[in-house]
Amino acid sequence: MASELTLYNSLTREKEVFKPLTEGRVGMYVCGPTVYSDVHLGNCRTFVSFDVIYRYLMHQGFQVRYVRNITDVGHLEGDSDDVDAEDKISKKARLEALEPMEIAQKYANGFHDMMRVFNTLRPSIEPRATGHIPEQIKMVQDIIDNGFAYEVNGSVYFDTLKFIEQKDAYGKLSGRKVDELMAESRDDLKNQSEKKHPADFAIWMKAAPSHLMRWSSPWSDGFPGWHLECSAMSTKYLGETFDIHGGGNDLKFPHHENEIAQNVGSCNHAGARYWLHTNMLLMNGRKMSKSDGNTITPTQLFTGDSPHVSKGYSPMVVKFFMLQSHYRSTLDLTNEALAAAEKGYRRLMEANQVLQEMRFTGNHQSGALDQDINGLLDRVTYEMNDDFNTPKALAVLFELVTKINSFKGGQLTMEGLTPSTFQRLQETFTVFIQDVFALENELVSAGGNDEFEVLDGVMKMVIELRAQARANKDWGTADKIRDTLNELKVVLKDGKEGTSWGVE
Ligand code: AMP
Ligand code: ZN
Repeated sequence: MASELTLYNSLTREKEVFKPLTEGRVGMYVCGPTVYSDVHLGNCRTFVSFDVIYRYLMHQGFQVRYVRNITDVGHLEGDSDDVDAEDKISKKARLEALEPMEIAQKYANGFHDMMRVFNTLRPSIEPRATGHIPEQIKMVQDIIDNGFAYEVNGSVYFDTLKFIEQKDAYGKLSGRKVDELMAESRDDLKNQSEKKHPADFAIWMKAAPSHLMRWSSPWSDGFPGWHLECSAMSTKYLGETFDIHGGGNDLKFPHHENEIAQNVGSCNHAGARYWLHTNMLLMNGRKMSKSDGNTITPTQLFTGDSPHVSKGYSPMVVKFFMLQSHYRSTLDLTNEALAAAEKGYRRLMEANQVLQEMRFTGNHQSGALDQDINGLLDRVTYEMNDDFNTPKALAVLFELVTKINSFKGGQLTMEGLTPSTFQRLQETFTVFIQDVFALENELVSAGGNDEFEVLDGVMKMVIELRAQARANKDWGTADKIRDTLNELKVVLKDGKEGTSWGVE
């Protein structure tokens, strides 16, 4: 069941076999966070998805350069490019009476902490927009020189109409109808707008006197437009043409569409060849939104301090929950789904522990069982090769969990299984759980307690309760405890050092 890696390219709206530009190497750019507020669970979903994609590409033997930026300038309120709109980071700096760079640092730190909590890898390069102003100024100049941008009062706008007329490269990604864009009248513009056409967008903006973040440029003291940084930094680190560009699907328009326009407008190359877009995280069927209280922070989810959950769910349970849906599907966060994910996560991790400690007891002959298990192991990779289908790959692992538990319970013998297949089973579980899905084992709880220690503590409490009940001549309670333990095949032994417990 050998298969090639295929991925769904948002640009062509088709699944395509992945062929990197350079054999064995992958260049991948993912739009990172705008660091003006705490990272939310929706962001986490997108970055966890790309972490698994990054890890799987490496697992497949690719040498990956993974670039994920930090947006610390240029992203204006309401995603606007109106000269009067305030920069999201500057606004927060004003409200919190801090330097804009303090705001950017604070929320970048918080973002990194959260990425660590979800056990994701750091990208190979994490460039910041403010660290790449010369590259962005150069790109603006190139676009002007190529005739696709114009300056008005110190700001520079991308001439979308002219670009559409001369290049067949606008609207493909987002599906925007170019005719409709062309038909939009100039009257749609606000009176004071400097744009020639509503579809034009700012690539350099003149800073108002009160604007804190500003750099000198040939056109004005100002700052780059939001879309520009990703074009400039992906080109710098991955080249004019590179393999994969990713982000949430809310960024398709205008951000990614305009990125492509800037790339083509500056160097006549469109940048990424494969565009990957993650879908949105919902809560109780609705978009997560602060305004109507339909929101939960990662910390609230971990601690259970929210009316939306009945208890806390650990980071790995939340991650497992995310992996149980495909990155291109919406994901609905509900208490029921999280509770089910918790059970699934524990079942997988417990089975893996059992498997890694299990001894091979087969007869060294290849039979139906060998074929069956090898077939399932092939399918794990097959599903991941099918556009990183984590839910299906997990479902196959669970078919194997059933077998592992049957080996353990004695319902299934290892007859017909070879040692090499058994070893492959162990290795596949290790690789996918640790290296690809990167699920940490939380069954080992804090303070070095493993599950047995926790159980032992609970049993000591039960024994004490029984002793108390007997001392109080509460025979009903004492008998209930004994009968329940008998049903569970737990036996109590009274000895010199008190009562101990064991399993029959
Ligand atoms: P931002 O910090 O708003 O620029 O977003 C950072 C990344 O998170 C982008 O790739 C967004 O598309 C993505 N994102 C934002 N909201 C959600 C959501 N509700 N679900 C999934 N991804 C999201
Ligand atoms: Zn971007």
